[in-house]
Amino acid sequence: GFKPVKIWVEEKYIRAAPGGLGAAKAGANYAASLKAAYEAKQKGYAQVLWLDVDHDGIEEVGTMNVFFVFKDEVVTPALNGCILAGGVRDFVIQLLQHKKMKITERKVTISEIIERQKKGELLEAFGTGTAAVITPVGSLHFKGEDVLINNAEPGALSQSLVQEITAIQRGTAPDIFTWMEPV
Ligand SMILES: *Cc1c(COP(=O)(O)O)cnc(C)c1O
Repeated sequence: GFKPVKIWVEEKYIRAAPGGLGAAKAGANYAASLKAAYEAKQKGYAQVLWLDVDHDGIEEVGTMNVFFVFKDEVVTPALNGCILAGGVRDFVIQLLQHKKMKITERKVTISEIIERQKKGELLEAFGTGTAAVITPVGSLHFKGEDVLINNAEPGALSQSLVQEITAIQRGTAPDIFTWMEPV
């Protein structure tokens, strides 16, 4: 289903350290993420939002890359060596550029996200990964509060992206980005 998930902003554990192997698809990264994921599940959250070693810069959500949608810009954390450069992350960047939307890869902090959500500037947030393609983020638990995103409903951009990506994957839309590989 395409149901927004409740996310725990993880302020104690980090997933990857600078100089380590956070950018690699390696089993050790999953091992390092299990305790935080387990504790979040026990509190009723689907996944954690991973922050950097300073506990402020946003890196990923669960085992997905993360995007934030503002009125005039879509932002995803810049690859900093601790973030896995996911294939679907790349698809979304290409699709947004094709739609002539402003997509920025930069450092994005949890403080900025909470502040802009309070000002009504955060429209949507979603995770990207091969398994679910796009997973909308319905809320972020931060400092004792569940901060709702788009009223915990799937956003318009999240919905159109999942349709466009899966249509190319299934061959019902032209493969304009040459993502497909004949096998
Ligand atoms: C697999 C994975 C992703 C997503 O990569 P895709 O190629 O889009 O499936 C993102 N972050 C982590 C930590 C992953 O293991």
